[in-house]
Amino acid sequence: MSVGYDDNNIFAKILRGEIPCKKVHEDEHTLAFEDIAPAAPVHTLVIPKGKYVSVTDFAARASDAEIGALIRAIGKVAALKGVEDPGYRLLSNIGREGGQVVPHLHFHILGGRALGPMLVK
Ligand code: AMP
Repeated sequence: MSVGYDDNNIFAKILRGEIPCKKVHEDEHTLAFEDIAPAAPVHTLVIPKGKYVSVTDFAARASDAEIGALIRAIGKVAALKGVEDPGYRLLSNIGREGGQVVPHLHFHILGGRALGPMLVK
């Protein structure tokens, strides 16, 4: 049980196997899969298997093992997708003003082309 976590969010359904995903990586604590609406030639999502809404929530409640696994999975997926060189963007949208749509912590790995400035001003 996790306060404020919506068990019906789409990534919770993917984790329960109720809807499919194009899996890129899986370990005890993390899952990585292709974004359904890619914003770049490489657009892969890395999520913890635990019920965390955001990085803030994850930092407060996750174990060191879960936190370590997520960061290692990001590194692994970046290598698997071949974006380490020439580079990629790692992004996590948090909350309403951060533009988060799915309320389960996820990191976007974006690459495969020059991504331009970080934000449109
Ligand atoms: P965010 O705006 O940071 O919450 O991003 C949510 C991301 O989840 C978007 O890039 C969506 O394209 C992606 N997404 C939504 N549903 C699915 C799905 N079923 N499988 C893979 N990616 C999804």
